[in-house]
Amino acid sequence: MTRRDPAVSNRLIIAIDGPSGAGKSTAGRALAKKLGYVFLDTGAMYRALALKALRAGVTLDAEDELAELARRTRIELAGNGDLVTLDGEDVSGAIRTREVSAAASRVSTHPKVRRLMVSRQQELGRPGGVVLDGRDVGTVVFPDADLKFYLDADARRRAERRHAELAAAGVASDVDAIEREIRARDHADSTRPDSPLTRAPDAVYLDSTVLGAEEVVQRMATAVQEKLRA
Ligand code: C5P
Repeated sequence: MTRRDPAVSNRLIIAIDGPSGAGKSTAGRALAKKLGYVFLDTGAMYRALALKALRAGVTLDAEDELAELARRTRIELAGNGDLVTLDGEDVSGAIRTREVSAAASRVSTHPKVRRLMVSRQQELGRPGGVVLDGRDVGTVVFPDADLKFYLDADARRRAERRHAELAAAGVASDVDAIEREIRARDHADSTRPDSPLTRAPDAVYLDSTVLGAEEVVQRMATAVQEKLRA
């Protein structure tokens, strides 16, 4: 046995995968808080590397250079996912721009970059008591995760939500343009050859087009309780 047995420990490894903007990090953060677990936003790691590449002027197609950059980069996630540091600098806000979103999607296509990120994610998650959100957590990072969720939502609904979040932050945006960007990222994430976004056959499917944020967390928490009782 390579890691703890859920029968003797309640420190589960919980994977939440799905497309951008489905509410994975909101749900994952709330679930982790409820359980007293650590929340790891794996997308934030790709975003931080993308930000560093943009700043350093490294071409987003240069796999070897990006992998080398990743090797020399220290990315830390703290504060239940609210704080992301890049070589010690707080980049929690800087990694959320549309430019960085698009760049992260390109950076994450490279197998050499993924290999490094995945091994860091495995190191961080292996002790258990962790909720990880991403695209390949239940399929590649922890294919033997104790519990897997796939959180989906209609692209229009995700664009409307993002548009509303930006409006609340005082940023004007065009909902149709956001929807196009979301669809482009979905396409890139689900058609890349290495670790495409796919639904693991054993993942619990939840659709936040119809379920509210609280309902999503509630269903996840119920599944965790059932798992711990099993
Ligand atoms: O989840 P988030 O939108 O922050 O992720 C940013 C980008 O990082 C995604 O568009 C995806 O291309 C990539 N990603 C990934 N694998 C993960 C998490 C994110 O490829 N596990």
